[in-house]
Amino acid sequence: MTNARAARIAENVSAVRSRIAAAAVRSGRDANDVSLVAVTKYVGLPEIEALIASGCYDLGESRPQSLWEKAAALSHTPVRWHLIGHLQRNKIRRTIPHLYRLHSGDSLRLLSEVDQEALTIDHPLDVLLEINISGDLTKHGFSSDELFAAAAQAAKLPRVRVRGLMAMSGLESNTTQTRQQFAAVRMLLDELNSRSIFPGKLTELSMGMSDDYESAILEGATMVRVGSALFEGLDV
Ligand SMILES: *Cc1c(COP(=O)(O)O)cnc(C)c1O
Repeated sequence: MTNARAARIAENVSAVRSRIAAAAVRSGRDANDVSLVAVTKYVGLPEIEALIASGCYDLGESRPQSLWEKAAALSHTPVRWHLIGHLQRNKIRRTIPHLYRLHSGDSLRLLSEVDQEALTIDHPLDVLLEINISGDLTKHGFSSDELFAAAAQAAKLPRVRVRGLMAMSGLESNTTQTRQQFAAVRMLLDELNSRSIFPGKLTELSMGMSDDYESAILEGATMVRVGSALFEGLDV
């Protein structure tokens, strides 16, 4: 990796961080109230090392197998791994030991198997419930109608610590629709809290990607998952 590439990544990280901070302030919060999960699915180890050098320690992968490989290669670093894509049940065992947080808690069957495995290896796990807010058929996640019954079941799993919700805007959505979808997710979080389904208050909203993270923050995102914007100008 050339110095120029590393410098470009550092600049991109810094630009994204400023935009996150500005949007957080516009939403009435502190710049530090919104965290960046840097999505590394498009790049290899040299680029990831440049991200780490720029202070990105929360990294996201959407494919379990890539996460295992990268986590093993970077086990000497302080990286916290976030799985943001679908976790097939036969990959639970190899994935959980690496994870800081599972964003893609998309079915009860998955969550109860994660709970079992977390018990076996004594590694309680922070999880987000994924909501399919756009109704796109290609997306995983609970519909808003299913959410409350599923949440009540998830609340009974002792090793699965539900912290909040995760969602993606619809593929075909315009800016107005995207904002409405993010706002709807925030209202679901408020509703879960007002019904006290979980013992503690849910505080996390993982929403927003390169094209819409500012809208997501304006609607209450506490974590944004940004990939391509960090690698602009690099031809990855
Ligand atoms: C790839 C991916 C991202 C990052 O997308 P960009 O548009 O590259 O920022 C965020 N969330 C999920 C679930 C993803 O799969």
